[in-house]
Order: sequence, then C-alpha cells, then structure tokens
Amino acid sequence: MSLPPTNKPLTAKPFTQVKTAYCGWCPLSCGMLAYLEEDGLVDLYGHPADAEGLGSLCSKGIAYNQQLPQSPLRIKTPLLREGKSFRKLSEEEAEKLLEEALSKKTAVFLDKYFTLEDYALAKSLGEVYGETPYLPFRPSDLPPRDWRNKKALLNLGAEPTFSLVTLTRFLVDAVEKGAYLFSFGSRFTSTFQKSSRYLLAKPHEAVEAFISALKGEGKAGRLLKELGEEVLLLVGETFLLSPFKGVLLKALREARKEFGASYALVGNFSPFPLKGIKEFKEELEDYETLLLFGNPLRYFSEEELKKLEGKTLVNVAYFPTLTAQKSDILIPRKAQGERAFTNRGVGFLAFSPPFLKSPFKDLLGEPPSEAVEKLLRELGAKGGESLPQKTPLSLPDLTEVPLEEGELLRSSLWLWTEELLTEELGRWLPWTYPLEPKQVAYAHPRSAKLFKDFPVPIKEDPNNAEGVLLVSSAFEEYQPFSPGVRAGVLSPEPYHRLVPLELQ
Ligand code: SF4
Repeated sequence: MSLPPTNKPLTAKPFTQVKTAYCGWCPLSCGMLAYLEEDGLVDLYGHPADAEGLGSLCSKGIAYNQQLPQSPLRIKTPLLREGKSFRKLSEEEAEKLLEEALSKKTAVFLDKYFTLEDYALAKSLGEVYGETPYLPFRPSDLPPRDWRNKKALLNLGAEPTFSLVTLTRFLVDAVEKGAYLFSFGSRFTSTFQKSSRYLLAKPHEAVEAFISALKGEGKAGRLLKELGEEVLLLVGETFLLSPFKGVLLKALREARKEFGASYALVGNFSPFPLKGIKEFKEELEDYETLLLFGNPLRYFSEEELKKLEGKTLVNVAYFPTLTAQKSDILIPRKAQGERAFTNRGVGFLAFSPPFLKSPFKDLLGEPPSEAVEKLLRELGAKGGESLPQKTPLSLPDLTEVPLEEGELLRSSLWLWTEELLTEELGRWLPWTYPLEPKQVAYAHPRSAKLFKDFPVPIKEDPNNAEGVLLVSSAFEEYQPFSPGVRAGVLSPEPYHRLVPLELQ
C-alpha cells in the first residue's frame, strides 16, 4: 500500500497519470510522486507526506530516477563477448547461455543497490557476496525524524551528505533545536561545520577518542554520562568498513548498555548474511561462474583479474563499466523505477511498485516468491503491496547479538578510499559527474609530499587530517568522462575504506 497522491498535483506540467513510489538509491527511501504521460516521466517530486523525505528528493535520487532509465550509455540488450568485442544476443539465446552458466557452481556478488528481491534471487542461484557490511542487528534504534529530539549527538565519521543525503536535515534540525553535536573524524566535512566541537585526527586517533567518550571520559563522555538516553551515538559506514569495526561495535554496545544512549549507523548495511569482498577474492577458485551485479571488479588489482581467466563472468549491468568489459555475458539491469522492489531502509522496509516501463525483459527472472516471503518474515514484515508504506524491521538490538573481536590498529599514514560526492553511477550520468569531474587524492598541505608517488594527482586540502590520503573510489578506467584509477589498484585492501599504510 503506497502513499496516496496529493489532492492537487504538484507539477505544473501536463500529465495523464500520477504514481507514488519510493526512491531506492539509498536507505532513506524518500517517498516520490511520478507524473507521467504515455508511460514517460514528465516530472518527479518528493512526497510531502513521507516521514523521511518530507517532500524533497536529493540530486542523486533525482538523477538516478530520472536520468538513468533513459541514459544513452545504458546497456539495453544482452551481449556476448566474442574476442575483443561483444555481439548482441536475442532473448532466447541469452536465456540459454544463462541457464548453462548458472547450472555450474556459481557465486553471486551484489553491489550496494541490491534489494530484498535481488537477495532472494541471489540466494537461489549460489553463494552470496557483496560490498555492503552485514549487520545482524538493527542499524538504528530510532527513526531519523527523532534525531531532532536528542540533546547531544556524538558522531564518528557519519557524513550523510556523501550518501544518505536527505538525512542531513535531521542532523541540522537537532542542532537548530540546541543539541550539542560533537564530531570525531579524519576530514572536516559539512557535519563538522555544524558541530559545536570536533576532533580532526588520524583514523585511529579519532576512534580512540570516540571510544574514550563512549566510556564516559572527556567532555563528550561527560555529556554522555549526564544526558544518557538523550544522547544519540552516530557512526559512519566508513569506520565500519575498516579494521575498527569490531572494537567500535563493542564500545557502542557497552555505552548503550551503561548509559542507555540511542545509536544510528549511517550508511548501507545488509540485514541478510553475505560475505564481503575479501572473502569473495579468497574463495574465487571454488566457482566456475561469477554472477556480478554492478561493478565489483573495480576492487580487483591486475593480478587478481588474471585469476578470473577460465571462469564464466556474467555481469548484470546498467553501463559498460570495467566489470562489463571483463565479462563474458552482459545482462541489462532494470532500473529501480522499472520494477517492484523492497528497499532496506534506516530501520524499516519500503516496498515500491514500478512507475516506469522497462525497455527489456528481466532475463534473470522473478525472485522465488517463497524466498522473498521468508526474508520478509525474518525481518518481521508481510510481503509486497501489503507492506504498509514503511514497515519497521524487527531485528534484534545491537546489545542482543554476539559481536566479532577487533583490534585497534595504529599507523602514521592512512589511505582512505571512499565514494565521495558522486557515486559509482554518478561517473556515468552526465548530470552528476560534473560535481566531481576528475579523480584527485586529497592530503593535508603538511602531508602532501609524503604521498608523492601515489598514482592519482595529489591536491593539498587542509580539510584532511594530517597523515591521511583521501581518494574517491568511484572512478575506474572505462568510465566515459575523465577516466580514473580503480580502488583495486590504489589500495592494497580495497574492502577496507581505511587502510594503514605504515604500521608502527
Ligand atoms: S536521500 Fe536517498 S532516498 Fe532520498 S532522494 Fe536521495 S538517494 Fe533517494
């Protein structure tokens, strides 16, 4: 059951149909009104009644929903590698080749845009890997709109303007209502700008200081002790895709138990078990077929790419990225507006019906419906259209699950690889790529010379902590506008966003 349309149309353009849906390009799942004429989109608005979007859509959501489906760069037919080029396949040929490839031992790699239906399908085809961290507990214990009611926010590296863009509003609301925002991290970002106080330091120093605060030490710790339940602890995905994951989650759990504080982990997480990029690389030799969603080979070095020889690579792709160029069979991927899907939200599920017609058939087929129902039941929800707008996830709390051990690595130099202003798809969309047109690596002016041999031009930037080199990982060698260098070449451990370059 989607949100109903508004009483009066929000667009001034002529239209024949209005459909309501959710944006699926980040976990915030903003409500949308799609105005259509003859099945073509003429205008797109944020739905004013939606609790997260509150009537707005961010530039990424607009670009991905409006521009991706009609991009001239998009792959629209199945393709088969023949030597150095590709040949168009008919649907029948593609189905036959797919059936043959998937009958062999298969691993599936999901990118961060996977939906609940994608996961169910992947599970039915083989072992599942992905770039999204698996968390067997609720990523947040309160809805984003309730951030504004907290009196203090202690934040380690959560920067919604890079990922869950509209979430920024709830941080701003909290600060405008007088909340004390204390940020810890390695780059001065817009959240730092809004902070009452901040610590800009190397990643391990920021983590140590944050953990001290979680123990009730220092000024931030005193706030936590005094205000207890009225404090929100925020941790960004960057620090959870790093060697600090174990120590951070344990410290967060202890602080929650001792002081009753709320928590929110900001980023893309999976409530379903999946193995990470590191395991994917380590276990590759067990598989004959790799079914790859998105562009995972950007995490591979040249040497690792060579290990793929002899395997059948099938890429479910929007664009002819590096992964597509290295694959044997290319399957066009439906945009989220072109199909029904269930998005993993910030503590909820959002079911979105299709609002656009797809230019091609879904060659991988429908996800097995019993598997989708089973996943929904595990998360505490019923399926499909019966999802009442957004359904809260009934996952355990952070305090109720066993956690992995971790260690606190220290280093004088750190490499930070991250999707910055434009993400993986932004490199292929003419509207979003100019936001970050060329790949550069950012280093503090006093540290820049330490990284002089880095394969990407260094830009001096005092917003970085000293000893930290930050580089966008959304670039790769085949992108059409200003190609760059992929994360798998830049980083020795691209499955970690933060990598020590020189252990003490
Ligand atoms: S904040 Fe996320 S859900 Fe909302 S419009 Fe942007 S990408 Fe879509």
